[in-house]
This record gives sequence, structure tokens and C-alpha cells, in this order.
Amino acid sequence: MIARRITPTPHNFSVWYAHVSGAQPDLSRAIDILDSNKVEFTPERNLDLYEQLLGASKEAEQIREAGERISAAAGAVLSVLQKAGAGTQKYGEVLGQATERIEGEPIDADRLQIIVEAILDETRRMVAQNQEIVGKLAQSSQEIDGLRKQIESARRETLVDALTGVGNRRMFDMRLRECLKQTLEEGGELCLLMADIDHFKRFNDTFGHQLGDLVLRLVAKALTDGIKGRDVACRYGGEEFGILLPKTRLEDALKLADGLRASIGARRIIKRGEERDLGHVTLSMGVSLYRPGEPAAQFVQRADAALYTAKRRGRNRVVSEVEVEAGELMPAGRAKG
Ligand code: GH3
Ligand code: MG
Ligand code: MG
Repeated sequence: MIARRITPTPHNFSVWYAHVSGAQPDLSRAIDILDSNKVEFTPERNLDLYEQLLGASKEAEQIREAGERISAAAGAVLSVLQKAGAGTQKYGEVLGQATERIEGEPIDADRLQIIVEAILDETRRMVAQNQEIVGKLAQSSQEIDGLRKQIESARRETLVDALTGVGNRRMFDMRLRECLKQTLEEGGELCLLMADIDHFKRFNDTFGHQLGDLVLRLVAKALTDGIKGRDVACRYGGEEFGILLPKTRLEDALKLADGLRASIGARRIIKRGEERDLGHVTLSMGVSLYRPGEPAAQFVQRADAALYTAKRRGRNRVVSEVEVEAGELMPAGRAKG
């Protein structure tokens, strides 16, 4: 913090504590990017980071709170059911006693009336109790339904990338697992397209981080607009996107990739207001085809290797896994940007 000239206020301290401890990977990623762009940590920027930290703890807090309310609602349902159980048991006992009394001795009209009245009393109590139970259960079920929706929306928030609005890495991993399962069960081909913006560091250095963010949004939108149906595009990391293409042959995935690459590369990026022309942004892409039974990591690694080959061969191109030669594998531990 001293090196970056950040005042050690409690807020800033909690941000940097979370960063150094690695407790908030998204926050750390944001700080690493700011660092790599040598961005100044102004009070406004520090406040943004603090809000990001709060955002993360707010999500956890929301889920915890919903969990507590669900357990309270479940407790209420349980106690109503227990009460219902006890009531039913007592009712059964009263009916049992009446039966014994009717069967046991010769019976006259007066005695019969007393027995019937006892049964009627108990039946009325039972009806009243059942009405109360139905009301309470309806109330609990409404409460639980509300909570279910609240949890669902909190959960969805944790799967969406805040900057670009597409799925984040967690969503990607989840969808990847689903796609593998579906492919194994239903057959068909599954392709993976990894796309990385070319020389994006240079873009940031030239035009600033905020315009860089804008470009990320633009690329994310162009990628989502360019796919359809079952296809899923997610932000895999910094300026890298992963697109899963179920039921797609490698040949078609390559065609789709090249279409996306060409259409994004053809656009001129114009800064609105100033009408400043920021030139073009290009993407390099690697495409792999799933081999049924292989681990997910291998499938991703082949797309990554193809992407690396695309970079090495001059960028702004699509490379298929079959073009990657054995000697052309990625250097170990390539930094993900
Ligand atoms: P290459 O063509 O080899 O991919 O070069 P590159 O500069 O794109 O790749 P490198 O991995 O060296 O740098 C990635 C850069 O992407 C670092 C950072 O400036 C930028 N970046 C990553 N995430 C973000 C982000 O969320 N916003 C902005 N503005 N820039 C980002
Ligand atoms: Mg890049
Ligand atoms: Mg990268």
C-alpha cells in the first residue's frame, strides 16, 4: 500500500488484506489488472475496490440470511405437522374409546347421545385445527417460495461477470460439466472455442483502462450476438472468452469462429462523443473437439494450445486443434491474462 501511495484507512486496509490473503479472487484479479496497467490508486478507485469487496461479502450475507430464513420456515412447518400428528392421534383415541363403549355394554338412547356428543366435540376441534394448519402451511409455503427465488437470484449473480454481463469463469466451469455430461449421454460432437483479444495490454496503455473495459463489453456482446441456441459464451479470464458449442462438428465450429473473428475485426472502435477513432480490435482463437471420456481439463488445454499457436502465427486468426504440432505446445505455466 505504501508503494502505491494508498492511505491506510480501515476501508483500504480491508481491501488489501483481502487481496493479499487471496480470499477474494475476483478482487485480486481486478487489482492485478490495475497494477499491470500502472493505474494510479486514487481515492475514487480505492472506493470502487472497497465496494467490490463489500459486494462480494453482501452476496455471501444474502445467501446466509436466506438460509436462516429457510431453516426457520422449515422449523415452523415441522411444528405444525407435529401438532397435526398429535391432534390426529388424540382423535383416533377418542373414536377408539367410543367404539369400545358402544361394543362393551348394552346401550340406551341417553348413553348413546353422550357418546355421540363426545365424538362431535372432538370432530369439531379436529376441523378447527385442520383449518388452522392449512392456513399456516399456505403461509410457510409462500415464504419458502419467496426465499427460493431470492436464493436463485443471488446464485445467478455469482455466475455473471459484472463488467460484461456474460457468464463468468464459474458459469463456464458449470456449463462445461453439463455439456460433457450431455455429450456422453446423448452423443454428438462438442466443440470449445477459446478467444483472446490481441495486444490488449497495448490498447489499455494507449487508450486507457476505461476504454479497455468498454472494448471488453463490446467483444462480449459481439460474441453472444454471434452465437445461438445451446451455445454459451463466458468470460474465462481477463480478456479471454470461452464458448461452448454443443452438437457442433469441428468443421462448423471453425467456420463460426472465423465468422466471429472477421466480424469483430472489421469493426472500427469509435469513442462516442469525441468521435475518436480507436482503430480495430482483433481476436485470436483456438478450437478443440471433445474426445468422449477425456477429462475436461484436456479438452480446455487443447483449445488453449490452439489459441497459443494462433498467437504465435501472427494473431487475428483461428487455429484448430488438429493444426497444433507436437513441438508447438504451450510453455508450461503461461500466464492467463
Ligand atoms: P496477446 O495478443 O498476446 O494476448 O497480448 P495481450 O496484451 O492481450 O496479453 P497479455 O496477457 O500480455 O495482457 C492482457 C491484458 O489484458 C492485461 C490487461 O491490461 C488487459 N485486461 C485484462 N482484463 C482486463 C479488464 O478487465 N479491463 C481492462 N481494461 N483490461 C484488461
Ligand atoms: Mg490478449
Ligand atoms: Mg490473455
